[in-house]
Amino acid sequence: MSQLKHKPAILASVRRVVVKLGSSVVTTASSINGERVAAIAAEIARMVDHGYQVVLVSSGARAAGLSRLGMSAMPVAIPEQQAAAAVGQISLMSHYERCFSDCGHHVGQVLLSVGDLHDRSRYLNARHTMEHLLAHGIIPVVNENDSVAVEELKFGDNDHLSALVAGLVSAELLVILTDVDGVYDGPPTLASSSVVDLIENIDQYVLEFDGSAGARKLPSGELGTGGMASKLRAAASAAHRGITTVIADGTSEGSLTRALQADSCAGTLVLASASPISHRKHWIAYGMATAGTLQVDKGALAALSERGGSLLPSGVTAVAGSFAAGDCVTCLGPDGKEFARGLVAYDSNDCARIKGSQSSSIEASLGYHSGDELIHRDNLVLLEELAQEDQPGD
Ligand code: GLU
Repeated sequence: MSQLKHKPAILASVRRVVVKLGSSVVTTASSINGERVAAIAAEIARMVDHGYQVVLVSSGARAAGLSRLGMSAMPVAIPEQQAAAAVGQISLMSHYERCFSDCGHHVGQVLLSVGDLHDRSRYLNARHTMEHLLAHGIIPVVNENDSVAVEELKFGDNDHLSALVAGLVSAELLVILTDVDGVYDGPPTLASSSVVDLIENIDQYVLEFDGSAGARKLPSGELGTGGMASKLRAAASAAHRGITTVIADGTSEGSLTRALQADSCAGTLVLASASPISHRKHWIAYGMATAGTLQVDKGALAALSERGGSLLPSGVTAVAGSFAAGDCVTCLGPDGKEFARGLVAYDSNDCARIKGSQSSSIEASLGYHSGDELIHRDNLVLLEELAQEDQPGD
């Protein structure tokens, strides 16, 4: 049953909005779509004139740089993509600056790398910069710092980045503009499929976690493309921080304005969780790359999942990967499935040495003691816990 009644109240009350524009919206195959950029800049400028505070997360740097490098398709080689991003980012920003200044506004560029958001002081700096830009009426334009990002340590896609930025600036709404009308209830190519108006529990759509990478997977064949999967993951991440998301088409005239219309919002509205998780837990669940895995036995699984316990060395049966103390690791149950992730107190070598033993023997084994737990409860997030956050009334 469609529940459009929810839309008006939510969209009418937002003030701070992160707008994410995909490459398919702002670029053609190998350069910037100047007309579209100008039209969206005009829409955002109007929003700002009406009292919204807008942070723009824009993709398109790599695509925009291709033609200047004499390429017509995205190269496979990473250094070439990074070179394209270096060239294209300038072009993207000069378009934004020109288009926004035509509407009486100015932009500030914020390029982020994963490390910037993992490190507390860099994270706070990024937040302060954004706050100051917004306080001065400047529109921050954010992208990943693609030309220096290390492949293994990338945000991965700007959908994910946009959800993190929405959390960073405490936005009330994330608008992801793409080249489809929203989330379809079946393959978008089938005439019988239609756009889902409202998703009240995003975890119905994003059910399975990929144990190895920690990325969420869609139930097979249920919904659109891989591109939509990353948008849903971003919406889930935002929802758990208490942020509502609209996923809508950004390729036609007036699309942003339509997506924000309180009485007839275009696209799919993904409701925020009624009880968002703390910022710290959100970071552990969504913001951090995992550096290894700890597999646990049945007893430890039950202690963590059912009794709110911490992970002790005695419950660990296997350690994989190379990680330092303080890194984020994936916890696997006896069946090899991810059920939690957390910040580990000992590095991978030491975890391997003390796995299976009592906490009282840590000091004797390692020559130091950094706590009885491998992962303290405060540093652990159960994936099930996230799903429960979205249950109505929780
Ligand atoms: N940061 C990339 C770019 O500007 C886009 C990443 C994405 O496609 O989400 O080219």
